Amino acid sequence: MLTEPDAPLAADDRAPPAWLAAGAPNVWRPYCQMKTAPPPLTVASASGCRLTLEDGRELVDGIASWWTACHGYGHPHIRAAIEAQLGRVAHVMFGGLAHEPAYRLAARLAAMLPGDLDHVFFAESGSVSVEIAMKMALQYWINRGVAGRTRFLSFLGGYHGDTLGTMTVCDPEEGMHSLFAGVMPAQHVVPLPVDEDSTAALDAYLAEHGAGIAAMLVEPRVQGAGGMLFHGDAVLRTLRRLADAHGVLLVFDEIFTGFGRTGDLFVCAGSGVTPDIITLSKALTGGTLPLSAAVASRRVFEAFWSDDPGAALMHGPTYMANPLACAAANASLDLFEDGAWKGAVAHIEAALRRALEPCRDAPGVVDVRVLGAIGVVEFAEPVDAGALCARFAELGAWIRPMGKVVYLTPPFVIGDEDLALLTGAVKAVVGGGA
Ligand SMILES: *Cc1c(COP(=O)(O)O)cnc(C)c1O
Repeated sequence: MLTEPDAPLAADDRAPPAWLAAGAPNVWRPYCQMKTAPPPLTVASASGCRLTLEDGRELVDGIASWWTACHGYGHPHIRAAIEAQLGRVAHVMFGGLAHEPAYRLAARLAAMLPGDLDHVFFAESGSVSVEIAMKMALQYWINRGVAGRTRFLSFLGGYHGDTLGTMTVCDPEEGMHSLFAGVMPAQHVVPLPVDEDSTAALDAYLAEHGAGIAAMLVEPRVQGAGGMLFHGDAVLRTLRRLADAHGVLLVFDEIFTGFGRTGDLFVCAGSGVTPDIITLSKALTGGTLPLSAAVASRRVFEAFWSDDPGAALMHGPTYMANPLACAAANASLDLFEDGAWKGAVAHIEAALRRALEPCRDAPGVVDVRVLGAIGVVEFAEPVDAGALCARFAELGAWIRPMGKVVYLTPPFVIGDEDLALLTGAVKAVVGGGA
């Protein structure tokens, strides 16, 4: 077999797999200009923190598959749970039927979340859970006989999903949806209250518009897809205070930040700020199966508790609470239970801080920041993600830049050598000290 002698984790001489060419005319890829995009890398298998490609290369995964695979790939405990559940039942409808994995998971999530965030509504994707949170908020006011609270307030830099409803609360410029401005109802998308002036501005804004707003939505601590933007917990305390002052519900979208990514299991737990509704997905099943949840506080739930059938939440995704996914999520929660993740995330944080700091001096770089298992190198201008991806792959790393940022969000189980390979690849490609 021929291998390039000096290429790390080199490809061998295998031809591209036949399935790629056979299916390529029929597969429409995400966020992709199909005409000009280079072909995708073909994954044969994945284990731990590594993807094995069809050409024999191994890449260390710096993204954890869009922040899902917190325990790495193929974790034996999660695998065993899914396999055992597959032997019982893969799926049943959740309308009128119940199963142990979902009921157990709901009770565990309610116990883990702070305050009275106790009422778990399952769905199958993050966007849909945000849609459900929005619908809960709208109907909360309708059920309470309050008219006119029909809009939402969200924040510049935010991202809450790709469906039509969630698009309206994403950042209209930074997000991916400015194209559709005018199609959907305009929401209030405003700056985060990060200092005195912006806090006063938001207070004034709510004084004017608050009576028409059902809820405000925020990704607490880290706005992920909008550019890995960080803010302090004081911002969240301000939001709680202003939400209460103006009678607006507060929704934390912890789809990215939940399950340890920022160093706390949930930001709502670590910050001491409890929202009225929280959305979870991404790492909920440890990156194995699609599942999400909108979890409501007692106050929200009680607005739906009535002898009037019309006051019920009229929602029910076909695959909601899928038993395989719930079994995977329960197994993932088992892995969080011993607390080892916390030391692992702190270790990753320290290593990212040390290793990425030299990138600050690289050409075009305007910021380097790290929080928990999130390491970010931000440029003044958007980067050529395709070209950078290819260079990272040559160095044995799977890293997919986004907008102006090159970032790492590795699985928590990553070892020092693999983490060093990732940070080394970032330094080699973006420049900066040795
Ligand atoms: C990824 C993400 C979503 C959307 O989740 P999907 O499963 O892709 O629909 C929503 N909010 C946040 C904060 C996210 O990171």
